[in-house]
Amino acid sequence: MKKIAVLGSTGSIGTQTLEIVRTNKDIEVTALAAGSNITLLEEQIREFRPGLAAVWDEERAAELKSRIRDMDVQVLSGMDGLLAVAADPGAEILVTAIVGMIGILPTIEAIKAGKDIALANKETLVTAGHIIMPLAKENHVSILPVDSEHSAIFQSLQGGQEKALHKILLTASGGPFRGRKREELANIQVEDALKHPNWEMGRKITIDSSTMVNKGLEVIEAKWLFGVSVDQIQVVVQPQSIIHSMVEYEDGAVIAQLGTPDMKLPIQYALYYPERRYLPGDRLDFGTLSQITFEQPDMETFYGLKLAYHAGREGGTLPTVFNAANERAVALFLDRKIRYLQIPEIIQACMEAHKNIEAPDVETILKTERETYEFIKNRW
Ligand code: NDP
Repeated sequence: MKKIAVLGSTGSIGTQTLEIVRTNKDIEVTALAAGSNITLLEEQIREFRPGLAAVWDEERAAELKSRIRDMDVQVLSGMDGLLAVAADPGAEILVTAIVGMIGILPTIEAIKAGKDIALANKETLVTAGHIIMPLAKENHVSILPVDSEHSAIFQSLQGGQEKALHKILLTASGGPFRGRKREELANIQVEDALKHPNWEMGRKITIDSSTMVNKGLEVIEAKWLFGVSVDQIQVVVQPQSIIHSMVEYEDGAVIAQLGTPDMKLPIQYALYYPERRYLPGDRLDFGTLSQITFEQPDMETFYGLKLAYHAGREGGTLPTVFNAANERAVALFLDRKIRYLQIPEIIQACMEAHKNIEAPDVETILKTERETYEFIKNRW
């Protein structure tokens, strides 16, 4: 029996993780955490019977406690709740399916407690990869990628030739606005940006996919996960989302992982690694699949990607500014307070105004996040 805890169980990755638990029958859920959706969390608690649940919002946590008073479940709130779920003594693996930099401290707590991390929460690696990766090594825990591209890279590296890795070919669908120029994006509305051509995901990451900022975050995430420089990572647009990413070895051989777009595959692979298991769902049919095409990313229109390369190259606190500025800009766009094209504008303005700090500790990273939010609040 595998034992897992899930941060962000009510979200897109969280619910798909629990679907895998439901179909496999040999995973026990020991702890769950969510932000505020206690209706779904209650259903999950009744179905999966964890001993511990955490809700970020204190009032909601109190309400949940009262709703499940017939059950023997501890309910906590705030950061204390997230840290308790992360370090839950019953779990071997923590699935970090929470969104945003709020995931940094719980991920560190889990690593210190010796848990393997099934990592979806890319913001943690983007901003604190220089802390997370050495800490994981020191504590002999594995960081297992859940992001489909990083899982594809990880799968393509099975065979133990990591030393001969020459470059990573990180694929991108190009999002709903692929092929458009900047002036054609001026009037994009929230509803347009929430329509991803191939993947069903949470709202923030769907907007990030449309701006290609998500790909930028993935470039920095891949840098930390696979120990390469950002210049060894080439983004390749592959609009059908069939190739989930590739690696090129020193001898020129390219190994790829292909499949239908279904996040359950990388989630299941991370939970059972190195075992492969049956996963219900569609299969690729090479008899009817007519083409797989490739394009270069348009880094002038989608210059959030270019800014990410810059942040990843510079390191220090700049990736935090990139990420925090994007987080806030996307929230403002979703609230219809700014226009679509202001998202990369805001990121760029924040990065230009920032004085980079090398090798920041967690406190400095979180301070940089707050300062970036403050900078935005005073201007937009
Ligand atoms: P969602 O927005 O769908 O879900 C986010 C989850 O985090 C929800 O359960 C939410 O709870 C919870 N949450 C948010 N804030 C807090 C908080 N302060 N305390 C506790 N829980 C909180 O996001 P996704 O599932 O799409 O994404 C999660 C992460 O995975 C992101 O980092 C994303 O980049 C990454 N990812 C997602 C992919 C996808 O296909 N969706 C693919 C690859 C990576 P509540 O519902 O109660 O608010």
